[in-house]
Formats: sequence, C-alpha cells, structure tokens
Amino acid sequence: MSRFFTARLSALTPYVPGEQPKERRYVKLNTNESPFPPAPGVAEAAKDAASLGRLYPDPQNGDLRSALARRYGVTPENVTVTNGSDEVLNFAFLAFADEKRPLIFPDITYGFYPVFARLHRIPYREIPLKEDFSIDPEDYLVRGATAVIANPNAPTGMALPIDAIEKIVAFDPERVVIVDEAYVDFGAESAVPLTKKYPNLLVTQTFSKSRSLAGARLGYGIGSEELIADLETIRYSTNPYNLSRMAQAAGAAALAEDGYHEANCRAITENRAFTIRELEKRGFAVLPSKANFVFARADAVDGETLYRKAKERGVLIRHFSLERIRDFNRITIGTREEMETLLGAIDQILEEKK
Ligand SMILES: *Cc1c(COP(=O)(O)O)cnc(C)c1O
Repeated sequence: MSRFFTARLSALTPYVPGEQPKERRYVKLNTNESPFPPAPGVAEAAKDAASLGRLYPDPQNGDLRSALARRYGVTPENVTVTNGSDEVLNFAFLAFADEKRPLIFPDITYGFYPVFARLHRIPYREIPLKEDFSIDPEDYLVRGATAVIANPNAPTGMALPIDAIEKIVAFDPERVVIVDEAYVDFGAESAVPLTKKYPNLLVTQTFSKSRSLAGARLGYGIGSEELIADLETIRYSTNPYNLSRMAQAAGAAALAEDGYHEANCRAITENRAFTIRELEKRGFAVLPSKANFVFARADAVDGETLYRKAKERGVLIRHFSLERIRDFNRITIGTREEMETLLGAIDQILEEKK
C-alpha cells in the first residue's frame, strides 16, 4: 500500500480471481466458464457494433434491457444491465446496505461478497452453512439485515427450493434480499417470478456461465421498479456507459438464440451427472450440485494435492484454502471429453498414491 492510499480503505483485501494462465493450454475447469462457444450470431453482431465504435454506446442499454424484459416476462423498468453481474452486486451492496442495514451471507459463498462489503465499509455477518453445507433459511430471518444468497450457492453448487427463498424474502418487507442466480440455468428454480410480488427482492444473473460470454462482461438485475431505479441512480453516478457497444450487441444476439442456450445447459447437466457418477466410483464424496460445477473431496488424496497434481497433468481445477473446505476441489463441468481427461488424470493420481 502506498502512503497515498486512503486510510478509509486500508482494510481492503481484493478479490482473487481463478487462474487464467497463458504459459500453456490447460483443460480449464477452474472458473466455471462454458466449454461451448457463444451462440451463432454473437461474433457477427459484436463486429458490426465495433464498426460504430467511434460513437458512445446507448447509456440506457435499451435494446438489451428490452430483450431481457421480454425473455423474463417483466418490463424494461424491472431490469438493469451491468458489466458482469459483479457490477450489479457491487451497485446493490452500495445502494441497499449500510451500518443500519448490515449484510448477512453464508460463511461459504461467493468470495466477492465480503470484498464489496469492505469496499463500502458495510458491516457484515457470515452465517455458517449447516454441517451438510446447505443453507438454513431460518438463519436469514433477520429483521433489518440485507441478505445475500447465491442460489445455487458457490462453491457448493447446492440450491434452495423456491419456497425457502420466498420465506426469506417475505419475512421482512423493509429489507432487501439479493438472490444471486449466476448458476440458476443449470437446474435450480429462479426467483424472478417472485419479483412481481415482493418489491424488496433483487435477482441477479449473468451471461458469463450458461451463455458462454464471460469475456463480454454482461450481467443484469431484475426487481421492482423502485429497486431498479435506485440501481440506475448508482449506475449513472458511476459509469453510464458501463457496457460497450460490442457487449450490448453480443448480449442481444445471445438472447435471440434460446434453443442454443437450452441445448448447452442440457449438455452440461448430462455431463455433470456423468462426472458425479464417475467421481463417486473413484471414492469421492460429491455435494448435490445444481450448477455447472461440482464440489468434491476424497479420503485418498487431500484437496491441495489433487489440485496440484491435476495441474501438472494439464487440468486446472479450483482449490480454496479456507479451513472448512480445504479438503474439496471445485470442478467446472466441461465437455464430455474434458471430463474424461480429468478422470484419467485422477486415475493416475490415485494410482500413484497407492
Ligand atoms: C461467476 C459468478 C458471478 C458473476 O460473474 P460475472 O462474470 O461478473 O457475471 C456472480 N456470482 C457468483 C456466485 C458467481 O460464481
């Protein structure tokens, strides 16, 4: 830290993204990207938009906002579009939490939540997951506390049923509940329909996972007009041009290909079932996942060793050193071939251990 860095932020520890190595080609199962290319039409749309690159983009993100509204059966006033869903989460923390409305979220969840909380100096309480790594909805019935729940949760992959989410949202209409649905397309139930009934519910989603556009940086929030208006106030106070022309066009083109999207999600859920079966055959315990990754541990090899040895063999998975989950690895679901490569590497690693 330089002597110029503000004391206000001296406690800030930045988020650490998963590795994006350049030195060699890995089978990349560490950051939950899609193994499939963006929908046909996306590259062309982005290229056309780039030819108008001398002009600022539409600050309302209008076309994309309308397309999302149609897709989710809401109005454009119920949607805000952001530079990845990290941005809408950042805006929502800033808008809806403070000393009087502290944050609550699970102890094991998306690592960005405590970072945003510290960035905005919002007090937060981490609520331990249950022994089986599930979220107990009762723990989130805290009056006046802004609750953040990833559903499915990461890195566990486990999802809450929609009635549990509704119970948390309905409990206190005077506080905001943020449901982060980055992985919802892989089998969990979305809370978007509940946004019509509960003005205090904000649902966030992303193009990064199921729509194969992590590189475009596209996310969005869906909620009541009043919540969205507040988020737009923050957006216009931060960067009204938060999405490039290319990103806006890419997003709209991706949304136009719902069949492609659904087929990819189906392929991932099938590969997930295959991977879970095969890992269990090899003695792994795998948490029940509704996401495009699985969280798994084995008695035969500790989490850090498995990560390291898989990397030596050209397969990247994600290990977290946090005490409670250090035995585990988070493994992104890729193509069938990629999963077979991983399983082959695991076979070698287990054989060596004998
Ligand atoms: C990947 C992820 C996000 C956001 O990713 P963006 O690329 O910024 O849209 C948000 N929440 C969780 C839990 C994630 O895993």
